[in-house]
Amino acid sequence: MAHSNKRISKRRYSEALCKQCNHPFTPTDARQKYCTPQHRIDYHNDKRKVEDKPYKEFNLIFKKNYNILIEIFNSAQYQQNEAVHENLLLQLGFIFDHYHTTDISRLNGNIIFFTFDYGLEFIGDENNKIYKIHKQNKIN
Ligand SMILES: [Zn+2]
Repeated sequence: MAHSNKRISKRRYSEALCKQCNHPFTPTDARQKYCTPQHRIDYHNDKRKVEDKPYKEFNLIFKKNYNILIEIFNSAQYQQNEAVHENLLLQLGFIFDHYHTTDISRLNGNIIFFTFDYGLEFIGDENNKIYKIHKQNKIN
């Protein structure tokens, strides 16, 4: 044995399971929890992704709802009728109960549910579930 080998720790650590890939590895340090430095990075990136998930899903719903409102609002049919049936909103994948802010219509006191600058106001009844779409700053 060469003299310099004395400086290297001869301590053997028992096999551990990588926190990221779950594969067994032999740590070279008591604190080592990952088989490779990359798996330590991956583990923390994945953890952050999980933590961000509810926020991202919420925003995806907002984006989808918003695009649906824009699409309907700008359609020739809506421009003609100035009303959209709940069935069409649902058919396009609109998810109700997700909105940023509410406003009160000065005309009738109805609550308008806003997704960004597009608001949805229920103007129908039980037999005819229709909504009016408002573009903010153009509430009437
Ligand atoms: Zn690993």
